[in-house]
Order: sequence, then structure tokens, then C-alpha cells
Amino acid sequence: MRVAIAGAGLAGLACAKYLTDAGHTPIVLESRDVLGGLVAAWKDEDGDWYETGLHAFFGAYPNMLQLMKELGIDDRLQWKQHTLIFNQPEKPGVLSRFDVPDIPSPFNVIMAILRNNDMLTWEQKIRFAIGLLPAIVRGQKYVEAMDQYSLIEWLRRQGIDERVSSDVFIAASKALTFINPDEVSATIILTALNRFLQERYGSKIAFLDGSPTERLCQPIVDHIEERGGSVQLKKPLKQILLNDDGTVRGFLIRGLDGAPDEVITADAYVSAMPVDVMKVLLPDAWRSNPFFQKLDGLEGVPVINLHLWFDRKLTDVDQLLFSRSPLLSVYADMSVTCKEYADPDRSMLELVLAPAKDWIDRPDEEIIAATMKELEKLFPQHFGTDNPAQLRKYKVVKTPRSVYTASPGRQAYRPEQVTPIANFFLAGSYTLQRYLGSMEGAVLSGKLAAQAICERQSLLGDQATKDLQMAAS
Ligand SMILES: Cc1cc2nc3c(=O)[nH]c(=O)nc-3n(C[C@H](O)[C@H](O)[C@H](O)COP(=O)(O)OP(=O)(O)OC[C@H]3O[C@@H](n4cnc5c(N)ncnc54)[C@H](O)[C@@H]3O)c2cc1C
Repeated sequence: MRVAIAGAGLAGLACAKYLTDAGHTPIVLESRDVLGGLVAAWKDEDGDWYETGLHAFFGAYPNMLQLMKELGIDDRLQWKQHTLIFNQPEKPGVLSRFDVPDIPSPFNVIMAILRNNDMLTWEQKIRFAIGLLPAIVRGQKYVEAMDQYSLIEWLRRQGIDERVSSDVFIAASKALTFINPDEVSATIILTALNRFLQERYGSKIAFLDGSPTERLCQPIVDHIEERGGSVQLKKPLKQILLNDDGTVRGFLIRGLDGAPDEVITADAYVSAMPVDVMKVLLPDAWRSNPFFQKLDGLEGVPVINLHLWFDRKLTDVDQLLFSRSPLLSVYADMSVTCKEYADPDRSMLELVLAPAKDWIDRPDEEIIAATMKELEKLFPQHFGTDNPAQLRKYKVVKTPRSVYTASPGRQAYRPEQVTPIANFFLAGSYTLQRYLGSMEGAVLSGKLAAQAICERQSLLGDQATKDLQMAAS
């Protein structure tokens, strides 16, 4: 079966990978000249990488870990010490750690919380634990039901201290969704917490050993192409062409650089494009369908990824850090955390600026100036001194619409991979799956779309269907 897939982000590539494994022939059509979508990366004029996002992998990413294992590239994940590290705004330059001991879950995470006395008092810890009980006892059903509340509303309902929310949850909310706790659905943070509490290594963090385009996306492409599929760059989907019965007749691809438009036909079609693009390209004939109307409830959130190269080493911390800065979210010294970006003498900080709605339209120089001010608080020993660290160069990557905005009530708008159109499917981290807007969510959505295509076309042998179902479970 030939399957045309628009979008070579992780969802589109994972979908194509699992289709080739099931014996089908995917053709992935990507609008840009780079693989990876939100994990795309480029080399600058000096050969240094810069990325769309600072990406952390978690132990609680079974589908991503399995995909990398299947591709024989799981050794590219550089696992860090099992700890979560936060800056302390009231003590510039001092870090607070939640070290997770190597004992069974949930005791490891509970122990990590109990042992941290910088950020939570005993009373706060006890209130926090009691507040979390319903999520632990009643599980994912309860967690899903909490989508009606913002995280702040939920914390108040549970009687959890405001300070816990400002200390721990602003950082978590900004890191996971690029928005603040008063805007984020409680479901998001509770889902992540539940995974971390249920899996021994769920909150353990890894960094890829190089750029995601080369070290993660390219091996998926190689796997697809070795099995007869193809991945084509600079092939933007311009229009979804329909038959009289509303099913898809073809993908009209815009011809670039003077080339004519072309029509790609297939047995099945997948949109693995961002939800904002899918909404624009939705055929008029489908607009009145309640399934597709749900897409109007989803919208990508702005975020900015910053890269700052310095003339010296600022830190030797080999981990993701939660800045707890009003401007910034997480950051890492990639010269320490990532093998391919390693530099023994000079730091390259990669920092996520979020929430970014007030910054996305501002000039890069203004964004960097504001970031440098924040760095004075994160690294007081290197800035505001007689001999401050010098910024050698920087790159600012703005994404006006990234993952879907995870505000309260959004779960109901997230569509399944199977659509009412017999030969049309959706993939993307915004589609309904249990891992939210993440790399893991993108991979799982692609796998679920591949599985749905195989099932709907009933072209798979029993064993192959079972294998794919097992893989997606
Ligand atoms: C700053 C930042 C930090 C992040 N940090 C993390 C993290 O630490 N951990 C984590 O798990 N996740 C993180 N994420 C989220 C993660 O990157 C995404 O959830 C995931 O990569 C989304 O993959 P996707 O395939 O669903 O969508 P996308 O990556 O958006 O892929 C969609 C693809 O469709 C293409 N496309 C668009 N229009 C067309 C068209 N007309 N025709 C053909 N193709 C088209 C796009 O170019 C793109 O390649 C981060 C994201 C950002 C931006």
C-alpha cells in the first residue's frame, strides 16, 4: 500500500517507519529543506549546531526509547544522573537538587521530595503529598477529569500552598508547555507527575549526543528508504484534493524554484503537519464535520530557543536546569551535556524563553540583552564582575506556533488519528495520545496512525497487526 504523509517531523517519520515495517510504501513530503519539524537543527557558518528547541528525553518515553532501539541508535542517548536541579532566585548562583535514589517507584520520587529542604518546608511537603493522593489512587481517569481546571485552580482546590506552585510548578509548567500555571491545564502536570511516580526511571533525563536532525531523524529516513519508502524535502502540501464522495484523491504539492505543482496519489493519506497548518489546509467539504471542527479549539504556542556561546566555561553541571527565571524556562550547557557540542574550555548555553508571547515579535538583540540580565542571576560569579564572561556569538530561533497550547479544556479538542474520512489519517503530538505535546507524543501518534491505516485497510496479516498493536501499547 502506498501512503502519502505530509510532514517530516517525528510524527510523520515515525508513521512512515512503522508503515515500512508492516510492508507498506510511505512517501513523506516535507515543506522545508530540513528534517525534524520542531526538532530541526542547522549548522552556522562556523559549523556549530543550533536547534529549534532544547530537547530532553525522559525515562518515561517508552515509544521513543523503543524506536531508537529498533533503529540500533539507543546508545546515542546520554543518560544523566537521576536528579532534577532548580536555580534559587533568592540565592543567585545556588542550585537546589531533587536527587532521586535508585529504589523502586514511587518511593524514589517521594524520597527525593522529602530530602529537599531548600524549596519546600515539611508542612508544604505533607500538604503536597495529600493533595496528590487522588491522582495517585484514582489514576489517569481522575487526571483527565482535571482538564477543566488550570493548574493554579487545581492546587487551590487541593489546599496546596501557593509557594509550592510558585516554586515547583511554574518551572514544571513552563518546561512542559511553555506557559504559566494559571494558564495550563492541571491534566498536563498531573500526567507527567503520575508517570514520574509510577516508573522507577521515569524522571531520569537524557540528552541526544548530537543534533536531532542528524542523530535521530536521519536514521529513521535511512530505515524508511532502505525498505522502499521515500522522504522528500521541499515538497509543501498546497491542497488536499477530494473525490466526489469526500475521500482524498491526491495531495497537490506546490512546485518550488519554478517547478510546476504536482499531484501525489496514494492508497492512504496522512497529515503529520502542525495543527495550525492542518486547519488552513482543511478542505471546505470537511469543515462542517464535527470531527474537524474540533481542530479550531487547538492552537500552537509561541516559544523561543536561545543559543549563547561564551569565551569561557560557566558551569560543569551535566544536566538540564530549571532556571525559575520569569523570562526563561529550562537551560543546559550543551558544551557539557552533549557529546557533539562538547568544548572543554568554552560554554554554549541553550535556553528556552517561555512564555514567549510578549517576546516573539521583538528583535533578537533585545531578547539577548534581557537574557544576559537573567544570566547575571544564574551565574553571578561570571557576570557583573570586573572580568565578566564575554558573549562570542548567539542564535535566536523563534517558533511562533509550536506544540498546541495546553490550556484547560483542550483534551476534548484533540482529535484521534482515525478520521471520518476513510483514506485520511492524522498524526502529530497534538493528536490524542497519552504523552501530550512532546517527542514521545509525536512518535506514539505516528505509530498509532500507522496502526490505524493498517487496520482500516485490512491489508495486514494477523501477526503483523498484532506486532504493531503490541508496539503501540
Ligand atoms: C523549544 C522547544 C523545546 C522542546 N522541548 C522538548 C523536550 O525537551 N522534550 C520533548 O519531548 N519535547 C519537546 N518539545 C516538543 C517536541 O519537539 C514536539 O512535540 C515534537 O517534535 C512535535 O513533532 P510533530 O511531528 O508532532 O510536529 P512537528 O515537529 O511540528 O512536525 C510537523 C512537520 O510538518 C511540516 N509541514 C508544515 N506544513 C507543511 C506542508 N504544507 N506540507 C508538508 N509539510 C509541512 C513542518 O515543516 C514539520 O516538519 C519542544 C519543542 C520546542 C519548540
